[in-house]
Amino acid sequence: MCPKCRETMVIYELEGVEIDQCVSCRGIWLDRGEIETLTTLAGVKPDRLSTALKDAAPIRTSDRRCPRCERKMHIIVVGTQNPMELDRCPNGHGLWFDAGELQQTIANFEEGEEGAVGRHFARLFAHELKSKT
Ligand SMILES: [Zn+2]
Ligand SMILES: [Zn+2]
Repeated sequence: MCPKCRETMVIYELEGVEIDQCVSCRGIWLDRGEIETLTTLAGVKPDRLSTALKDAAPIRTSDRRCPRCERKMHIIVVGTQNPMELDRCPNGHGLWFDAGELQQTIANFEEGEEGAVGRHFARLFAHELKSKT
């Protein structure tokens, strides 16, 4: 169930990564480790992003609950140029991204050619995603 609007989540497979996306608000849930895989696929080394996500201290408790354990998630702030508020499960199950936040978060950690990550995701999400359910 979507942590934000309680609508149904659909599982998509994107280049070998399972992505849970809400059919209504288009938010995305990623299980632990999946963000690193997606980041690598986008051509960015995940080390800095991975460290930032792990080290980010919660700024407050979210109203949204983890779709895996139903615990209230913590809000963390990630990124320096364009800081994003993300919801993180306190038990480490994964992260919730509102529509568009996933691309912006990864783009924050882009090194090298500017705009490459944006173009990569535009390409990925332009394809008709194959639903597994
Ligand atoms: Zn939703
Ligand atoms: Zn959880």
